[in-house]
Parts: sequence; structure tokens; C-alpha cells
Amino acid sequence: MPELPEVEVIVRGLRKNILGLKITEFEIINKKLRYDTPKEMEYIFKNKTIKHILRIGKYGIILLNGKKHIVFHLGMTGKFRFTKKNTDVHKHDHITIIFNNGIILKYNDVRKFGYFFIISNPINLYKFKNLGIEPFYLDSYSSYLWESLKKKNKDIKSLLLDQGFIAGIGNIYASEILFDSKIYPFKISKKINKNSFTKLLSSIEIILKKAISYGGTTIKDYQNISGELGYFQNNFKVYGREGLTCYKCKNLIIKVKNKGRSTFYCKICQK
Ligand SMILES: [Zn+2]
Repeated sequence: MPELPEVEVIVRGLRKNILGLKITEFEIINKKLRYDTPKEMEYIFKNKTIKHILRIGKYGIILLNGKKHIVFHLGMTGKFRFTKKNTDVHKHDHITIIFNNGIILKYNDVRKFGYFFIISNPINLYKFKNLGIEPFYLDSYSSYLWESLKKKNKDIKSLLLDQGFIAGIGNIYASEILFDSKIYPFKISKKINKNSFTKLLSSIEIILKKAISYGGTTIKDYQNISGELGYFQNNFKVYGREGLTCYKCKNLIIKVKNKGRSTFYCKICQK
């Protein structure tokens, strides 16, 4: 499932390819995604120009001229691809956007957990969807996060997955971040000491930036808008490595399954 790095890679790809272009056609092929795609998108965004594309947490936001803008969430299997021919139809294509230079952007989503919605001016990015702090601004909020952490009774891995605390981290990167910061994933958040907390903030930034530089992670079917795969999975230290030896201490990596989510860690390196 795309997490912050994968969404960032996609947003950068979109920015590179469609910034400044005008939408000549917006067609909803199948509106039934996680939430119905609003039908009015078809006429609201026609003849609008792409002004900016940004990411907040795991959301992509396409800002256009005018008062209304597009937000997308890729869910589990959502992806975009460019094509030059509208006859290039794949199973599970749900949206087609045609631009004034002839480029066509298709949104494809096998499991249909992704979704699109409209936001209108004024946009409050600071309070967007009640998301927590962006991982690349943690430094500026470290006292706030520390105070907040000291009140949390849930385990640190669940807290990292809480989008209202820090935005954009999902199951894969949570395991990698906790290994990097040497923290036991099921440690109660408020029991984490200041040094570990400081290390945690820096690990979040390091791991996510590294993942972006590798084009994200492809485990099942993630690919960027050019159809290229991500390669960060080759850098995993714990995720998907159960039963294999820890690169640091040679002990075996453990996998624990809880509420349908797997957590991977090293019981020697992570305390
Ligand atoms: Zn280890």
C-alpha cells in the first residue's frame, strides 16, 4: 500500500509532466471507488490549468486555477499512468484526464480503495484532514511531539501509524523506522526516553527520504507514473525478513501479526 514515499514519488512525477497544462477532458469511467468520485468533476475541471501539485501525508493535491481543486488518495492499489492513446484501456481504469498537449492520464485501481474528492478555497493545509505533523518538519515540532508522546498509552508502532500524530507513515516504514531507531515496536509510547525519541525523529526523516530516493517500495504492484518500480525493498532491514539474520547482531528477525498487520523487529537490537 502506498505510503508517504510512494505518494511523494507520484506527486513529483505528476508535477514534472502536467504542471501548467490545461485539462481538456475529465472522464469518470467508474465512480465506484472507496467513496464515489463526484460526477461534477467532469465539468468543474474541464478547461482548468494545473497550477501546483503537492502532497500532504498520503494525499496528493492538484491545485488548479479557479476555486476548486482535486485531492486523491491511492488507497491500496491506486496508480496513475500516462498514455498517448485513449484506446489504451486497461481493466480497472476508473478516471481519464486528457490535457491540451494530447497527454492522457489514467487512474487505475484494482482494489478500489483509492478515492478522489474536491476541495474549495480557502484551503487550510495546516488542518488538512486533521493530519499530524509532516515527517520533514518534525524538528520544528519536537517539543510538541515529545509532550504529546508522554501522554500516549498505546504502543509506539501504533502511534507511528496514527495519521493524526505524524502523517504519512504506514506499516512498512513503521517497522523500518523502529529498527533504525532501536526501539521495540510494542513499547508503550510514554515510556520512551528522550534520547530514543530524538533518534526516532531523525530515523523517520532518514528512512522516508531514503525511500523516496529509491523511488519508493514495490512489494506487489506499486509503480510510478512512468511504470517504473520502486527499489527501497532491497534496503529493508526487518520488513519481510522474518527468520533471516539481523544485519547488525545476526539474531533472527521476528514477525508478529496483530489485528491483520505484521510487525517485524529484532529482539536484540530493539529495546
Ligand atoms: Zn539485531
